[in-house]
Amino acid sequence: MSLDLRIGVGVDVHRLAPDRPCMVGGVEIPSDVGPLGHSDGDAVLHALCDAVLGAAGLDDLGSLFPNDAAVNKDRPSADFCTEALRQIQSKGLRVISLDVVLETEQPRLIPYRDAIRTRIAELFAVDRDRVNLKGKSGEKVGPIGRSEAMRATAVALLAGS
Ligand code: MG
Repeated sequence: MSLDLRIGVGVDVHRLAPDRPCMVGGVEIPSDVGPLGHSDGDAVLHALCDAVLGAAGLDDLGSLFPNDAAVNKDRPSADFCTEALRQIQSKGLRVISLDVVLETEQPRLIPYRDAIRTRIAELFAVDRDRVNLKGKSGEKVGPIGRSEAMRATAVALLAGS
């Protein structure tokens, strides 16, 4: 039996600003600040899309959905996941597991982790117990520690179906 496994990584940073919806992994969570972006600024979904697309050897998110295109303005990042999934499926691939670290000083993720994992699992057509999300604080240093930005790092494992 031959194994057809592919691994990919994605990283994304967004600045934080007051009075922006705080989208994390497709879930809007209560927060005084939210990510600035051309789309909804969901760093977790952007990192995941790049990990999934990268594993499949496909163009990255910025190439598929340019951040200077009017059609992508304030667009829900769930749309990007739907397209990334369609593209990998058209290559005969499926998602096996996803793991994400979100570095952010605020908001605290713990109360929302389960909801976010469930939403990510839906978006990438994978079992919920194969999706994980960890929150890390910025320890009050650097742009993340000063609540100026959040950064997501994601790893995706795909397999030929
Ligand atoms: Mg982004």
